[in-house]
Amino acid sequence: MQIEERTMKKGEEYYRKGRVLWVVKSGEKLFSKVLGSYPYHVEINLESGENLCTCPLGGDCKHVAATLIAYKKGACFEAISKTAEVFPEATALEFLGEVPSLALDVTLRELRFQLSADESGSEAANLFIRALRLAEKSRRPEVIHLLEEFLEEYRHVFPEYELTKRLEKMFKAVKEKFQKAL
Ligand SMILES: [Zn+2]
Repeated sequence: MQIEERTMKKGEEYYRKGRVLWVVKSGEKLFSKVLGSYPYHVEINLESGENLCTCPLGGDCKHVAATLIAYKKGACFEAISKTAEVFPEATALEFLGEVPSLALDVTLRELRFQLSADESGSEAANLFIRALRLAEKSRRPEVIHLLEEFLEEYRHVFPEYELTKRLEKMFKAVKEKFQKAL
């Protein structure tokens, strides 16, 4: 690994800003997803230091640095199955599924990011639906305001979509459930 001091500092900032969505450890390998200009996927061999990132630099970058920092802080899921090396994201989501509140936080971070980066609105919509379900599952009515803001933004970017109407309907149903519970 040949990561410059300057790059490590940027990685540290990325970590602090919550740009590392998850880290999965499988044997001596780390896998992660980091929000840069796009969502990037990182792979690091802890023994050899070899690393790979899907950003234009290909590795030894701030995304790799941020992943290492997250790992050192203990923000990491230890995978049992070897399939984690092929499907690290599925493994991470499975771990997160067991902690709906943490899964919700991760989803909201990704949703915030995708709302500004996703030109088709498809990923943002998918994340919005996941966030709604997780809000319900983790019983966190306080995030409903945040989701309402996201929906407002989505409506602003994709006003013509039939999908937008569907999302509004789904949102309303969850909001009403929360209001009844209060
Ligand atoms: Zn990178």
